[in-house]
Amino acid sequence: MEIGEAGSKGGCLVCREIWVIAEQQGAEVSEATLEVLDEAIGIAKRLEYIVASVVIGHRVSGMADVLFRYGATKVYLLDHELLSNYTTDGYAKVLCDLVRQEEPPVVLFGGTRNGLDLASSVSTRLNVGLVNNCTMIRIEDDVLEMTQPIYEDRIYRNVVVKRGSPIMVTMRMGAIGKGQGNPLGQGQVVEIYPKLEPSDIRTKVVESFKADPESLDLEEVDTLVVGGRGVETKEKWGLIEELAQVLGGGTGGTRMAVDAGWISRHKQIGQTGKSVAPRTCIEAGVSGAIQHCAGLRDVDFIIAINKDRNAPIFAVANVGVVADIHQLIPPLVAKIRELCAPRDD
Ligand SMILES: Cc1cc2nc3c(=O)[nH]c(=O)nc-3n(C[C@H](O)[C@H](O)[C@H](O)COP(=O)(O)OP(=O)(O)OC[C@H]3O[C@@H](n4cnc5c(N)ncnc54)[C@H](O)[C@@H]3O)c2cc1C
Repeated sequence: MEIGEAGSKGGCLVCREIWVIAEQQGAEVSEATLEVLDEAIGIAKRLEYIVASVVIGHRVSGMADVLFRYGATKVYLLDHELLSNYTTDGYAKVLCDLVRQEEPPVVLFGGTRNGLDLASSVSTRLNVGLVNNCTMIRIEDDVLEMTQPIYEDRIYRNVVVKRGSPIMVTMRMGAIGKGQGNPLGQGQVVEIYPKLEPSDIRTKVVESFKADPESLDLEEVDTLVVGGRGVETKEKWGLIEELAQVLGGGTGGTRMAVDAGWISRHKQIGQTGKSVAPRTCIEAGVSGAIQHCAGLRDVDFIIAINKDRNAPIFAVANVGVVADIHQLIPPLVAKIRELCAPRDD
């Protein structure tokens, strides 16, 4: 079976690789990439293809080992100093050149800001179909089928790709979870030094700085502080923001907190909000209703603070603290600030 036969490759064999475009989070491979790799492994196995990952950047060879551990068996390293920072022009150009050369049938991206930006730019330049925001991808009756939530997630539809058509897909972050990883995973590295001129890139990165926690996307943070009705008022919501800020994380809320106007709707977590997958999530003054907990399935470590020792949130938490958040959080924030303050000695 051949899915999305991309082309003849000069009369040679069709490329039997499922591609995952890797992204960095600080100096590490992003969680979104690890999630997408896990999804790619499933379809690659069914098709008897391999998973290949593409790393774009400058001096990023260290990422290859992590990608091998999480299921890639081949890594294309596209290295150029003009690729040190993400730019649509630079990344799209080198990726388009590589896709034209190798003709992969399926290219997967994490649904991050950069992933969505790059996927739309590359698919437009190559005139290849793009399916965005998928929560699942599988092979059904010999065809590639993707599940995509629409109408604010009220309806899920399955998108089927015509056989023989190459396709690009962005996967919704937090929807799938990452795999276990295999410390013994190994593979082949293909180093590529693309041709790139400063004139190819119309944007210039002048400065990078840490985003305000309030403006961070829920899917982008390692640490999330989630507030519920226990916060009590909008004025007291600063408590949640301050804790997120000292931890370098983001904020989220229950539907109750959203309905009260303490936090915007796109930060709601749960069945009718978003699913999240940070490493750590602190749930403060949240009861733990099933509709809320539906959005927490992929969180690695949950710490719950609630004054009611019988609150359901404790059943899903890794650590539970029975306390009043108004008494616990302010001294906690002060202590973290003290510990993180620069020292004179
Ligand atoms: C169809 C449907 C879809 C829904 N979708 C979602 C969804 O996507 N997301 C979502 O969140 N909800 C959703 N809900 C609502 C959900 O059922 C709950 O009503 C909601 O999650 C409760 O929010 P909460 O935990 O903030 O409030 P509450 O349930 O009122 O809990 C507040 C908690 O704070 C604790 N508390 C109070 N004061 C303090 C204090 N000072 N210190 C420590 N703890 C304190 C209390 O003990 C309590 O456990 C949905 C409901 C329905 C019917």
